[in-house]
Amino acid sequence: MIDIFKIREDFPILSRKVNGQNLIYFDNAATSQTPQQVIDVITDYYTRLNSNIHRGVHRLSQEATDAYEEARIKIQQHFNVAKPYEIIFTSGTTESINLVASGFSKLLKPEDELVISALEHHSNIVPWQMLCEKTGAKLKVIPMTQEGTLDIKIYKNILNKKTKLVFVNHVSNALGTLNPVDEIIKMAHKIGAYVLIDGAQACAHIKPDLQKMNVDFYVTSAHKLCGPTGVGMLYGKTELLQKLPPYQGGGEMISSVTFEKTTYADLPHKFEAGTPNIAGGIAFGAALDYMNSIGFKNIIKYENDLLKYATKEIKKIDGIKIYGDLQKKTAVISFNIKNIHPYDIGSILDQMGIAVRTGHHCAQPIMDYFEIPGTVRASFSFYNTFNEIDIMVKGVQKAIKMLQ
Ligand SMILES: *Cc1c(COP(=O)(O)O)cnc(C)c1O
Repeated sequence: MIDIFKIREDFPILSRKVNGQNLIYFDNAATSQTPQQVIDVITDYYTRLNSNIHRGVHRLSQEATDAYEEARIKIQQHFNVAKPYEIIFTSGTTESINLVASGFSKLLKPEDELVISALEHHSNIVPWQMLCEKTGAKLKVIPMTQEGTLDIKIYKNILNKKTKLVFVNHVSNALGTLNPVDEIIKMAHKIGAYVLIDGAQACAHIKPDLQKMNVDFYVTSAHKLCGPTGVGMLYGKTELLQKLPPYQGGGEMISSVTFEKTTYADLPHKFEAGTPNIAGGIAFGAALDYMNSIGFKNIIKYENDLLKYATKEIKKIDGIKIYGDLQKKTAVISFNIKNIHPYDIGSILDQMGIAVRTGHHCAQPIMDYFEIPGTVRASFSFYNTFNEIDIMVKGVQKAIKMLQ
């Protein structure tokens, strides 16, 4: 069970005012809020531990290294990964994807094919387009349907012997669609292709078991799951991470350096050049602890109830259209009101202290498919309330009156 009053007390930002109103934060798909428990870990790091890791013999450096490596193990255990060194710390989802794309630039041939989906975030499109430009490989797209799902029949036809890599998000950030990743991975493996799953939007709502999924690469950002910005992870199977060349050169990623020849460090350090976001990595671990203390079963149940209630209430508004009104989705509602620009709704809601996102949500191909400039997106978290949904629905109704 979710004790909503107790949980809300953990998030200091939820008690601030915006335009004289209580903040209603419905932009969780862009970034989640940070609980005091995670803020305290960051403060504690700079108060007690601050030093550079892995290199020092002195006490602070050892304690900071231990805390950072403990966080890696927390992440490993959370995602049920076989080895801690299969978790690479990065600055976030975007960097994780670029790391893999950069690694494959030496491994692909012009006749190879890559497959992405029509539901991707720009950060899971552009790095692959850049990779195709570099290598001559071709990019194929799994189309989407009017319902906001992927067309798996066409995916099956796209796959062939030339397919080397498949990239799909676990959950669409624009619509909330929960994609059938197990099936997508199985089908790709049958023809010998590797799969990268973008989990940025999924990990705040579900707890993926990466060994069970048998995925080759999985990426996410801490800031979408109650952690800080600027830190995230790349999971990769050992044999694949060993195959990929280093992403960046610098300190920490080498085993020895001479002007004649440099040899690279073992995993995970091969991919972790330079001083990392140490406090961020430790706080990433603390964010997972926090979410696990609430429990993903509870989170899933509560957010599902919020989603069902919000969908029912929003549908009462005249002229509303919901994009991706699905059974299998996370707590995101992307909608438009007939003849009103999403930006205008968003601006009026902001006047009322309600934070929603408007625009293409870094997923322009989805908007092009629906032939719209964008949507209003309300995305919920386990710290939101049913009352907040009522206030938003009334707010949208008021906005419509003002705009018509
Ligand atoms: C947020 C998001 C990203 C980008 O994450 P960053 O933290 O900005 O790197 C990529 N894909 C999806 C599905 C997202 O929701």
